[in-house]
Amino acid sequence: MGDRWHRHQGFVFCLAAGAVVRLIAPLLGDKATDPAIVVVDEPGQFVISLCSGHQGQADHLAQQVARILGATPVLTGSATAQDFVGVDQIGVPFGWQRGAGDWTAVSGAVARREPVQVIQRDGSPLWQAHLPLQSSLQVVNAPGTRGNPGETTPPGTATIWITAESDPPPTAPQPQVIWHPRTLWVGIGCERGTAAALIEEAIAQTCADHHWAMGAIAGVATVDLKADEAGLLAVCQQRGWTLRCFSPGQLQGIPVPTPSAVVEREVGTPSVAEAAARCAAGYQPEDPHSGPLLVAKQIHRQPGITGAVTVAIAQAPQEYTGRSGALSLVGTGPGALSQMTPAAQAAITAADVVIGYSLYVDLVRPLVRPGQIIEALPITQERARAERAIELAHWGLTVAVISSGDSGIYGMAGLVLECLSRQGWDGQTPSVQVFPGITALQSAAAQVGTPLMHDFCAISLSDLLTPWPVIKTRLQAAAQADFVVALYNPQSKTRTEPLAQAQAIFLDHRDASTPVALVRSAYRPDQTITLTTLGDFLEQGVDMLTTVLIGNQSTYRHGDWLITPRGYLGGV
Ligand code: SAH
Repeated sequence: MGDRWHRHQGFVFCLAAGAVVRLIAPLLGDKATDPAIVVVDEPGQFVISLCSGHQGQADHLAQQVARILGATPVLTGSATAQDFVGVDQIGVPFGWQRGAGDWTAVSGAVARREPVQVIQRDGSPLWQAHLPLQSSLQVVNAPGTRGNPGETTPPGTATIWITAESDPPPTAPQPQVIWHPRTLWVGIGCERGTAAALIEEAIAQTCADHHWAMGAIAGVATVDLKADEAGLLAVCQQRGWTLRCFSPGQLQGIPVPTPSAVVEREVGTPSVAEAAARCAAGYQPEDPHSGPLLVAKQIHRQPGITGAVTVAIAQAPQEYTGRSGALSLVGTGPGALSQMTPAAQAAITAADVVIGYSLYVDLVRPLVRPGQIIEALPITQERARAERAIELAHWGLTVAVISSGDSGIYGMAGLVLECLSRQGWDGQTPSVQVFPGITALQSAAAQVGTPLMHDFCAISLSDLLTPWPVIKTRLQAAAQADFVVALYNPQSKTRTEPLAQAQAIFLDHRDASTPVALVRSAYRPDQTITLTTLGDFLEQGVDMLTTVLIGNQSTYRHGDWLITPRGYLGGV
């Protein structure tokens, strides 16, 4: 264990909790650096988050393991009791860096439900929408303001700052902590062969002089001539900063405070550091204020060290997450959680964001963990839902898009992939995984026996996206070929004609006594099942929550069961 302790982010033990405690006791150091420790009991009923629940993410790991095993996660942290993700966790999905402060004291104040003020000046406010209702956090959004907290700030017993500043006004004697969203882009110009140490020192000095936090740096920007500058590459690698390089053409027209004719002659753009910083921070020609410069060009030299460095800092409207996003396209099955695959459940629990139609989001509520961003959109806005999911995934978040049944059968998965392909997606980033679910025709069939034992097909009667002549041709072909047929989206309050026409088409090829099952809201509390016939089913009340199963010429009814013979016993 000693050898492995710092090499892994987490450990899952299948061992008595007492033995685990003795094993790890000599290795425990600091909750900021210790790995997650999770213990599973031998029968696999409970998954205990034993140590490093928050910063080490053991709570999260325990929930994922529990989801996979079908076990109960055991979380004992106070944030869990409050349905709150924890002061030291709120910025994790967005790649924020934890800055200075007394994290234990501020977490304690939240745990005691004391009023704690949050002053957010930078970064996404998305996390705020998911605070528990009875949260004692009082959030003040103050984008762009600097300096004093201002008179409107509610007093609290502790303060959480969310800012790119290194040292916002101290609120002592009350404890405070600082989260740094990574919004700063550092533009660099340097002579060939400038030492890494000088570049790093120049950036640190510029940040210190102007009170910007090194933790808020998203990356470094420069002109493409410098893409192979060894010192620059070394600093970026050491610090985990991305390097963005722009051509002189891209930098040329960007307005800057200190252009230089000398630089223009040498490089082909009057500014490197300032223009590159603004460019990386999202400067758009149509908005001259976009990607604003916070610090104009500063020149650094040091006696005895080769080279010179110019540094400028600009700020992006959205923080850099430093993560590559993922889309999980999840089928949640017909309704009951027990009908969803463990993999689908785990994908929902693991996601930073869950997006879906409100009704389905409600069905998966028990899987949602504190701090998850839930975006429920009305049923008509499928495209908006898909585009939102893609936007968040491009930003670096893991997004679960949920559909009932199977996500790839009249669900959201197809739309998301179509939108991605239109945007010229490279097939890799964001990564995509499709999680299958039990589709309506399977759950409906299971409730009435085995009507799908022979060749079958699904036809949606919705003519919103498919022209009626196409639907009609498919109905005719299926009826003629003697497929068992599942009709999806069979009938709405205003759209009744297609179902009547479907009946007429099937009556041309099958007997009026052919068994038909109407399964409404399968595996949901209001499930209803009606067994009827092809001749009579129109009168039985079919709506958009119903799947209509029409038997083939051999399907027969035995009591409350529908059976389609496959031929094992002869006679097909
Ligand atoms: N992706 C879903 C289908 C969405 S289309 C799936 O694979 O199941 C919506 C249609 O599916 C509804 O109009 C209804 O015909 C059917 N449906 C979805 N859930 C159902 C359920 N629980 N019971 C019966 N039919 C259902």
